[in-house]
Amino acid sequence: MGKQGTPVAAAVYCRISLDRSGEGLGVARQEELCRKRATELGWLVAEVYVDGSVSAYSGKPRPHFERMLADLEAGHRDGVVVVDTDRLTRRMSELETFVDLADRHGVALATVSGETDLSTTDGRFYARIMGVVARQESEKKAERVARESEQAARRGVPRGSRRPFGWEDDKTTIRPEEAVLIREAAQRVLAGETVPSVARDWNARGIPTAQNAKYGWSAATLAGVLRNPRLAGLRAYKGDIVAEGLWEPILDRGVWEMLAAKIRRVARVGQPSPHLLTSILRCGRCGGPLWTSWRPGTGDTRVARYACIKRPGGPGCGSLTVTARPVEDIIRDAVITAVTGPALADAVAARSGRDTEAAEAARELADAEARREEAADMFASGEIDRREWSTIRERTDKRINDATRSLNRQSGPLIGLPTNETELRQTWDTQTIEWQRALITAVTDTITIKPAQGAYNTFNPERIHITWRA
Ligand SMILES: [Zn+2]
Repeated sequence: MGKQGTPVAAAVYCRISLDRSGEGLGVARQEELCRKRATELGWLVAEVYVDGSVSAYSGKPRPHFERMLADLEAGHRDGVVVVDTDRLTRRMSELETFVDLADRHGVALATVSGETDLSTTDGRFYARIMGVVARQESEKKAERVARESEQAARRGVPRGSRRPFGWEDDKTTIRPEEAVLIREAAQRVLAGETVPSVARDWNARGIPTAQNAKYGWSAATLAGVLRNPRLAGLRAYKGDIVAEGLWEPILDRGVWEMLAAKIRRVARVGQPSPHLLTSILRCGRCGGPLWTSWRPGTGDTRVARYACIKRPGGPGCGSLTVTARPVEDIIRDAVITAVTGPALADAVAARSGRDTEAAEAARELADAEARREEAADMFASGEIDRREWSTIRERTDKRINDATRSLNRQSGPLIGLPTNETELRQTWDTQTIEWQRALITAVTDTITIKPAQGAYNTFNPERIHITWRA
């Protein structure tokens, strides 16, 4: 066809729009509109080119658009019909390519809204302007949305459409019964209980999530709630804390920082052992940890015991065992008596004044962990070599260990414990093994089981030697 001719082998180009501003027209509807427009103009359609969900801005390859350009270049197609110029391209560089191609080959362009003849100066100008306007509008909109959400964050305005657990629908007023649960979970996790264990307990107690799901507490869901800076009344934006929120906080900032640090730390360590004293007890022969093992009891039963186990490359002489039950009972009683006794009570009282110190340790821990991760990334991407990586790792690991030890000294199961022996005994019975283990390790330095003397049948309590933390 000539420049003034009517296309006899026009291309219809359709693209599913991902851009928010798009009309969301389906491909079938786009094709229908384009064919109708071609018929009105008296053009003959030779082929329909369809690209899937690719934004015309993204610059990602659009195979059928490319194929159409090749066909136009080769002279196989002499016109293009699209719903609007946005559909064709929203990138200036692509529009230039297209205009240039249309110029050289006399390609006609028609839009459903009205013809844009790229063979005329006016038509090209119009197409360019349309492209520029569409692009600017889309960019401006994206900028405005980002700016507005950042400004809202800096003013401490709550985000999201869903009700956060612990607050009412206004995301500002505390829902007391949920706030109590959050404080309870925080205390338990700081005391050494695992997040999955608390989540299981919440499901067992029938506590619904904020979205009212029963049995909806997974470890990840609960960890998400507890790690959220919102608990401490802090507003985060893109991972950084940018303001104090306009809502009432549920936890002190120091407590929340300890909690978040602890959850991050625990996420890296495996599941705790299921028995009360596994790896807490020490072997009186070699000093190695005692592990759970079993010996056959009467009939089909088996009896739990703790044993020193010989392992290649690990500590353990393999020649000491003790029956679990009497040891567990004695340790429990000793710990309860000690915690409610005057000496430890003083230590507990002294500890509660150390919130700031603990928060500092939590920050130091978070910082060291961040540095370690950063260095790991640098090593992975080849920015630093293995030697540099291991130097940094050694240094950060030492900082992480120091901060962890300090945190464990400052925080823990001693906060908010009953000081009355009967009450503490009741608390102990309702708590999980993780909590009990955490309490034991908080108040004792070592628990050593001495080798048995004489008969094995009766357990001699004097085999247990406890050193207490003051
Ligand atoms: Zn041993």
